[in-house]
Amino acid sequence: MYAEVAVNATAPLRQTFTYRIPEGLDLSPGHAVYVPFGPRTLQGIVTEVGPVPAFAEARDIEGVIDERPLLTPERIALARWISDHYLAPLFDCLSLMLPAGFKRKPLTYLQPAFWLGEPGAPEGVGQRLSDAEQTILAHLREHGETEVEALKRALPGRGSIRAIGSLIRSGHIARTYRLARPPVSSKSAPHLRLTAPEAAVRSRIAELKQGGAAKGPKLAVLLEALADESIIPLSRARRIGATPAVLRDLQADGTATVEILPIIRDPLAGRVYPQRAAPALTRDQQAAAEAIRAALHSSLFTLHSSAFLLHGVTGSGKTEVYLAALDHAVALGRRAIVLVPEIALTPQTVRRFAERFPGQVAVLHSEMSLGEQFDVWHEVRDGRFQVVIGARGALFAPQPDLGIVIIDEEHEWTYKQQDASPRYHARAAAEELCRLTDAVLVLGSATPDVETHFRARSGALQLLELPERLVPAGGSVRTAPLPDVEVVDLREELKAGNRGIFSRDLTSAIRSALGAREQVILFLNRRGTASFVQCRDCGHVPECRSCAVALTYHAPAGADPGEPEARLVCHYCNRRYAVPAACAACKGTRVRQVGLGTERVEEEVHAVFPGARTVRWDRDVTGGRDSHESILARFLAHEADILIGTQMVAKGLDIPLVTLVGVVSADIALHLPDFRAGERTFQLLEQVAGRAGRGERGGRVIIQTYTPDHYAIEAAARHNYHALYEREIDFRRRLGYPPFGRLVRLTFAHTNAGYARDQATLMARRLRAERGHLALPNLDILGPAPAFVPRIRGRWRWNVVLRGTDPTAALHNEALPRGWTIDVDPASLL
Ligand code: ADP
Ligand code: ZN
Repeated sequence: MYAEVAVNATAPLRQTFTYRIPEGLDLSPGHAVYVPFGPRTLQGIVTEVGPVPAFAEARDIEGVIDERPLLTPERIALARWISDHYLAPLFDCLSLMLPAGFKRKPLTYLQPAFWLGEPGAPEGVGQRLSDAEQTILAHLREHGETEVEALKRALPGRGSIRAIGSLIRSGHIARTYRLARPPVSSKSAPHLRLTAPEAAVRSRIAELKQGGAAKGPKLAVLLEALADESIIPLSRARRIGATPAVLRDLQADGTATVEILPIIRDPLAGRVYPQRAAPALTRDQQAAAEAIRAALHSSLFTLHSSAFLLHGVTGSGKTEVYLAALDHAVALGRRAIVLVPEIALTPQTVRRFAERFPGQVAVLHSEMSLGEQFDVWHEVRDGRFQVVIGARGALFAPQPDLGIVIIDEEHEWTYKQQDASPRYHARAAAEELCRLTDAVLVLGSATPDVETHFRARSGALQLLELPERLVPAGGSVRTAPLPDVEVVDLREELKAGNRGIFSRDLTSAIRSALGAREQVILFLNRRGTASFVQCRDCGHVPECRSCAVALTYHAPAGADPGEPEARLVCHYCNRRYAVPAACAACKGTRVRQVGLGTERVEEEVHAVFPGARTVRWDRDVTGGRDSHESILARFLAHEADILIGTQMVAKGLDIPLVTLVGVVSADIALHLPDFRAGERTFQLLEQVAGRAGRGERGGRVIIQTYTPDHYAIEAAARHNYHALYEREIDFRRRLGYPPFGRLVRLTFAHTNAGYARDQATLMARRLRAERGHLALPNLDILGPAPAFVPRIRGRWRWNVVLRGTDPTAALHNEALPRGWTIDVDPASLL
């Protein structure tokens, strides 16, 4: 028999390799194996098994890593789909679904091939070695076998790298190949287990307590713990009196034994969630839950009947619909995966799931320790949990009997992996997973991605709507209007001589909220600080003539070292414009860079409202006292009056005392050079606005902007998703942006700015030639252009963007050269 194996090689491979399965080894798809690969032994995953080899010259599989297959055939098929769709290495895609820490790095170890002067050493070779070579050999003789990267660190410099190479070639150094130690594995520890009948132990405890023997009370404590729990970790037993002598006695008289048992590292351990019963659903909620229930009963996935878009305004009760759908799935014996945008930012949501299904919810996300992830993965595979909840990667949990996948806030771009291969979108992968496992897919949002809504309109998804906001009212709910939104025109503020951050309206609204002992959220979008210019008189922002995106301000030599002047740059087509001295729209001369941070807003709050207690929440916040959860808890407990934050405050917060949300500036989001800027701004504003008025006191929203007439702001002011949708669809149809065309972004990064630009230019030229060869009619090649952030960690980044109906067609034939990354269906072109 032969196996096709996806190999964990350093080269980005999309194909599998054929190996022979030696006699006596019983392998099926999903098994993890060791395979020979060149001179090395590498990890691999069996993807297929069959009698006929794809290649005649197949080497033998060396051994199996884990007795049980780690992946089901559906998961393998999903990995293949991701690899094909996102042009990503197959092993990377498979490892999304493997337990944490599975991937081990191939290492090379070096040692002297012989000792100079020993019998068997070639005569006189020592004399011909350079100084650098001598040093390396001396080091290896002193330290013994050394891993090559460690050797390079010990003896830095170009000379020694070259010398290592020449010593290997001349046969002075021998190489061996091994995999790095696994970073994690299941953890076990000795435990003390009760073996005597409990009743007998209890009466002995009673005797000990009365007996008055010196050691009696101490031993009684230990026995009591054992009788209560029957198994306790030995480390704890030692703390309560299990000395070596005591242990010997307990084992000798048959009271207890010492056993090695696995310990489960569970991040939810120690948190007790009280069970919460389901509320009676409203009519709309019931209709939605019923449609999902019907789909759960059918065991075949068909797009229109098994996939849903739950479109409900903020606070309309979507989460209760998810919970009801989960109830139905669990009643049918099927399990669930629930995705939330960012687990650290949504503790309230996680808690609601844990409370409804106590003890049956596993949390899985990348900020957990490897050990925790590893353990939870194994427990999930064994069917321990009805519900797995987590950020995008939780989609790949080995949940058996999958019945439903729920993606909350499906429009969030955190569902797209952007910083590492494979750059998949969890929503697209979820749809494929549901197709493969005949599970039901529920996408929920108050502001659906325009592309998702387009699919619902065209019948690919079933649309469920919750048009009304619910507000808890004495044990049940009533409907309530969405908060009023007031748009403040900052141009008028300037004219009236107000140069502060807060408009007069926002100032007085904050003042009255503080006076009523209510809470305030101040939101600002920090991404893209100081990256565009805007006319202070009319609000005009210069855009590219051919791409219709805002131009980005670059300081002198910002995007291109050859450019001494400040420039406005189009990040799609790389056209450059001079920074205008006067506004093109109103001829005003106050064209300024725009930028503002949360720190600055906080200072201003303290200056204007000296008594207000503030708390800042942004991406820089990390662990410790100021972790996301504790900031939220403090604000919830009304230990602060004003929460100042970036995007993250927009997510799922439900704080009844918040009656005012102030958007300090809507313009930063609006003028990012991205075709989705309008949609994103609307989503952000609508989500942030959704934080106001969730209690009985109602609430209002104030949006400050220099462009009050922008369609995204007008739509947000009226909570009008459909107005936004129509404008977006129109604009995208005209320019061939998604959903009417697809995009691929290729990025080249290099420390040498000129080299980066030249490589990008070459790539664009090559792709244009390829487009001619393949006669691809519907393909635009944009750029090369510098990336929005032109330099990250010392490397200059250039983009080439492909736009068309099948933009990967031009890329299937070639592996991209080193230094390139590829992002298919990018979440943004920034
Ligand atoms: P969404 O997920 O759409 O933002 P939620 O599910 O959080 O909305 O509901 C908003 C508020 O209304 C929450 O406080 C929730 O507990 C409450 N709620 C929702 N549905 C009901 C219901 N049927 N009965 C009682 N309370 C409900
Ligand atoms: Zn342009």
